[in-house]
Amino acid sequence: MIDLRSDTVTKPTPGMLAAMMRAAVGDDVLGEDPTVNELERRVAALFGQEAGLFVPSGTMANQIAVRVHCRPQDEILIDSTSHIYLWEAGGPAALSGVTCRTLEGRHGRLSVAQLEGKIRPDDMHAVRTRLVCLENTHNRGGGTVYSLHEVQAIAAWARQHHLAMHLDGARIWNAMVKTGVRADQWGQAFDTIAVCFSKGLGAPVGSMLLGPRDLISYGRRIRKLFGGAMRQVGYLAAACHYALDHHIERLAEDHANAQIIAQAVATVPGLRLTPPEVETNLVWFEVHPSLGTAQQVAERLRSQGVLVAALGTNVIRAVTHLDVSREQCHQAAAIIRQLAQ
Ligand SMILES: *Cc1c(COP(=O)(O)O)cnc(C)c1O
Repeated sequence: MIDLRSDTVTKPTPGMLAAMMRAAVGDDVLGEDPTVNELERRVAALFGQEAGLFVPSGTMANQIAVRVHCRPQDEILIDSTSHIYLWEAGGPAALSGVTCRTLEGRHGRLSVAQLEGKIRPDDMHAVRTRLVCLENTHNRGGGTVYSLHEVQAIAAWARQHHLAMHLDGARIWNAMVKTGVRADQWGQAFDTIAVCFSKGLGAPVGSMLLGPRDLISYGRRIRKLFGGAMRQVGYLAAACHYALDHHIERLAEDHANAQIIAQAVATVPGLRLTPPEVETNLVWFEVHPSLGTAQQVAERLRSQGVLVAALGTNVIRAVTHLDVSREQCHQAAAIIRQLAQ
């Protein structure tokens, strides 16, 4: 099977497993895991942030961020198709008593023009506007990438209005490789950043929240509350160190492979790339009813050995990653082209 459902389906490489076996570990709840402590220092420094907090999932990193920035009755300004709003099980409401004011971004990307005028008045009837959340690359938007300039403009606007800025950077690594903009340049625009090691970087588990020391130490209390404090977790952190050493630059291969898939999709009448330009490793496309439902198209591809994700009645996502080779992407592309018959 050629599994293009997600960049989370990867298994640790032999090199990564060997690094995990060699990890020095301790009880991280007591702050005694040297491999975790080093990873927190390393990634914080990479993004020009003061401190880091290792957590089990990207969802937890984002939801701790919401909790440390906001109090109940606060509101977030966020794109309507963002992961925090759409795919984190109602976390802001359930865990922090926070509402989301959703805006219709352009393929997931917000602009200052859209944010202007969305701050609630200082009035007891209203929620308090507190936080702007951006996502880069944007998953549902189609793996789209913000330019640094767009992000800096939003950050300047947010600071002017005393709003905090959080980045859901589950795939910020892909944005770095795509644009050549360094981690610390992205980092400067945000108060807090969530990054994932378990997507394109290929680690089995692990995400991190980055930010100022005081917010991160408050976040440590919230991580405990959310059940995310772990013990000899250096075995997992070692996989993340390995991923940072070996799996960032190679994301360019995933982006090139995504073009192979996208070009095949574009040849099939009844399939439409959304957005039409694929920027990174996520290929989203719509299925015209003449070809059936997304589920039916996914079944046809599965019967030929290609797995994709049907994520709506007429929406499919195909994702390239560490565990699919260029050759396999050519094979998958040939199978996708056959849908035209
Ligand atoms: C996958 C993902 C997350 C959450 O990561 P989990 O580790 O699955 O909880 C957050 N944001 C984006 C954009 C993602 O794609």
